[in-house]
Amino acid sequence: MLPFPVARLTIFSLKPRRANARPEKQVVGVQEEVPTLMHELSIAYSLVRVATEAAQEAHIPQVSAVHLRLGVLAGVVKESLLFSYDIAAENTPLAGSQLIIEELPVIIYCPTCAAEQTLPGIQSFRCPVCGQPSAQIVQGKELQIISLEYADAAALA
Ligand SMILES: [Zn+2]
Repeated sequence: MLPFPVARLTIFSLKPRRANARPEKQVVGVQEEVPTLMHELSIAYSLVRVATEAAQEAHIPQVSAVHLRLGVLAGVVKESLLFSYDIAAENTPLAGSQLIIEELPVIIYCPTCAAEQTLPGIQSFRCPVCGQPSAQIVQGKELQIISLEYADAAALA
């Protein structure tokens, strides 16, 4: 595990603090925002750690992009993850690289249709064709690094 820089979690630095803001209001904001961001930040650190190990094994000094597949049921807010990624990537071979997220919809297996069906959203787990409920999730929980991109010059070095 990379050291977890708690000091960077200063939520106040994410937003300009207003001089006349009332202290109790700030406390409310922190309570609402910290758990969400910490979740994505810890995921971002895990992703960066895995990608860094992969890059080091392949002798890639500088990664330019990381491709990630993210299921809509993974419980990750895309925007928060993108924000957290930039922080987590600092001082690693991934610094300044792009996180490219491919969002995956939910696919269930419908026993009635005997087929996999893509759901239009995550509000209902019913087959969009026949209406049968199904708990057999085929896709939607992914949080996978698919590939790393790097400059050719780096590969030759
Ligand atoms: Zn069906």
